[in-house]
Amino acid sequence: MNQKYPSILLENAVNEFARLPGIGRKTALRLILHLLRQDDAMVDGFAQSLVALKHEVKYCKVCHNISDADVCPICLNKSRDASTICVVENIKEVMAIENTMQYKGLYHVLGGIISPIDGIGPADLEIESLVERVAKGDIGEVILALSTTMEGDTTNFYIYKKLAAYDIKVSMIARGISIGDEIEYADEVTLGRSILNRTLFNESYRM
Ligand SMILES: [Zn+2]
Repeated sequence: MNQKYPSILLENAVNEFARLPGIGRKTALRLILHLLRQDDAMVDGFAQSLVALKHEVKYCKVCHNISDADVCPICLNKSRDASTICVVENIKEVMAIENTMQYKGLYHVLGGIISPIDGIGPADLEIESLVERVAKGDIGEVILALSTTMEGDTTNFYIYKKLAAYDIKVSMIARGISIGDEIEYADEVTLGRSILNRTLFNESYRM
């Protein structure tokens, strides 16, 4: 459907908003008309926060979590257990697990999971950097907290194999969460419990 816009500026803005996931052209138009009714300071702040986010955001060089500095506050926090690493798919999962307040170790953000259909292989993810962290020798346990999907299982197994050479415990969060649920959607109590009730990977994994 080719909607006619009374202004090229409006059409351009709709086009940009409609690029976002889950935003169709109707919603884009509604959001833009809403922004047009706001005062200049609000819209300037909105636009500047996006530009600043994209240009200035950093990723922690240790765990790859989003950060304002080279190393994130979680990695820098001396009261956390630096011998335990929880492996997650994305930054959203770090936020979800932090909200449970049940986990005091560090993280490693993969930046996705292995998904041949989407053309994502191990080399596209932060798996080598995880192995390097473990190889330094100060790690006692790696907890796999990926989605309970086929891709999550594949990635778990790949990482497990990669870490098999090291004398560490590899565990997996308990699957209180039904298969196919992604952990970011789990409620905090369930997610917190699934971390506390984690199991050794080689015991929980059955081909
Ligand atoms: Zn970090």
